[in-house]
Amino acid sequence: MTEPRTPRPADLCVEPAFLPPLTTRPLASPIYLSSVYACDDTVQADRILGGQEPGYVYARDGHPNAALLADRCRRLHGAGAAWVCSSGMSALSAVLLARCTPQDTVLASTRLYGKSLALLDREFSRLGGKCLTVDLHDEGAYVAALAARPKLVVLETITNPLLRVADLERIAELAHAAGAEVVVDNTFAGPTLVRPLERGADFVLESITKIMNGHSDVVLGMVAAKSADLPRLGAVISTWGLAAAPFDCWLALRGLGTLALRADESARQALAAAELLAGSPVCEAVHYPGLPGHPDHEIARRLLDGTPPTGPFPAGAMVTFTLRGGTPAAEAFIRGSDIPFCPSLADLGTTLSHPATTSHRALSPADQASQGIFGGTIRLSVGIESTTHTATRLTAGLTAIQS
Ligand SMILES: *Cc1c(COP(=O)(O)O)cnc(C)c1O
Repeated sequence: MTEPRTPRPADLCVEPAFLPPLTTRPLASPIYLSSVYACDDTVQADRILGGQEPGYVYARDGHPNAALLADRCRRLHGAGAAWVCSSGMSALSAVLLARCTPQDTVLASTRLYGKSLALLDREFSRLGGKCLTVDLHDEGAYVAALAARPKLVVLETITNPLLRVADLERIAELAHAAGAEVVVDNTFAGPTLVRPLERGADFVLESITKIMNGHSDVVLGMVAAKSADLPRLGAVISTWGLAAAPFDCWLALRGLGTLALRADESARQALAAAELLAGSPVCEAVHYPGLPGHPDHEIARRLLDGTPPTGPFPAGAMVTFTLRGGTPAAEAFIRGSDIPFCPSLADLGTTLSHPATTSHRALSPADQASQGIFGGTIRLSVGIESTTHTATRLTAGLTAIQS
């Protein structure tokens, strides 16, 4: 058998697609879709897989797009280390699996995102762990709960849907005195409003799906740690299969480019929307931490760097309000305003959600009411449209109720 002078198409077409060496660097990052990387020899493979040499072998363990996004998240949060995961939920799973054993107790805020509570309570308990919940605005109850010696205290900086703001520094101080680590879900605030690791948290996680990416085209999460020395987190992400895909990481890095612009503008628009709604006779209540009437207004000013020193200030893109007239009023508002009804948040455009039938549907009407959620409650995620456009749509929604 002689070697053919030119390879057959069948052989040529399956040759590895190694890039030619580049003499200049692309300014926009390439997308490394490769699931696997070719090693020079066994020595190199051994050193990379053993962690003695940087490099990539298998994409579930790491790839350039995840590394680039994770490093940007690390710097955004002033963290020692950060990792990207396939979703916000997998970021919380990663912290739980890396830090807890089946003997451990976690103490969670009663106001946590529903799926997070389901993970800590229903799923973690199946592995033998225990989850207690507490109202973190009740310091006596919180101190009493810390007597159970939890391994982790899990909370959100701004909660859904009433936008309660945690007194993070105080909560962390008490947790640390009791030997617990503090895990903060910062999804609603984002790193431009608050960097929880600088306020006492040991871990911060975010659903990149929301304001970090900001374009509703990616599901992704991140976790960042104060400590630079937590090798178990990376191992957990690879072994439990929580890794993020290259294209999603690439999209999220692109979305992050405008994070500060989007976050500032949508918060400015949200304050204007909250003020408009607060002036309407059909609104029974408006919840916005930047408004002086909000129960956590002063905590928000401290935590979210509110300026000026007194009065209203932009405190994030979420505004929740309760209409007089219950669910029929909410339905009239949704139809009249023509704002998309989407049970997620932080798109470029304004969207709204109805907590009673979406995020909080698992709660009984009595439990919903005890959390301040009624048929007439709507949560707005304010986007970056002009103030007049938003005001026109809100007014159309309010008018639709009255007519
Ligand atoms: C959306 C969300 C999550 C979960 O993130 P996914 O990316 O959907 O898995 C967790 N916490 C909060 C506060 C969220 O809004």
